[in-house]
Amino acid sequence: MKMIFMKKEKNTKEKKVSEKQKIALERIYRLFELAEKQKDEKLVKRYLKLAKKIGEKTNVSIPKTLKKKFCKKCFTMNVKTIEKKPFLLVICGKCGFEKKFSLKEKKQ
Ligand SMILES: [Zn+2]
Repeated sequence: MKMIFMKKEKNTKEKKVSEKQKIALERIYRLFELAEKQKDEKLVKRYLKLAKKIGEKTNVSIPKTLKKKFCKKCFTMNVKTIEKKPFLLVICGKCGFEKKFSLKEKKQ
């Protein structure tokens, strides 16, 4: 069980999350867990693609904490994270794709 989801709910605007979307999010988390443990790159790719597909189908965006863990270009979890204030740089170890995340949480 992960607490991230519950914590976040407090400060985001109340969005109606359908039962379907809740299940989808759970599935996404589980797929990432599986992908993290998996050493076979082909399977990792499959899990991550599936997670993305579920998100697209149900209109659920992949949580930021998970987004930092994979490369959306080649679907690998072989990424490096470097803190470069005020950003967090996620660099793919396979294709070199870089992604920036803001370290500051948006306040609303
Ligand atoms: Zn990549």
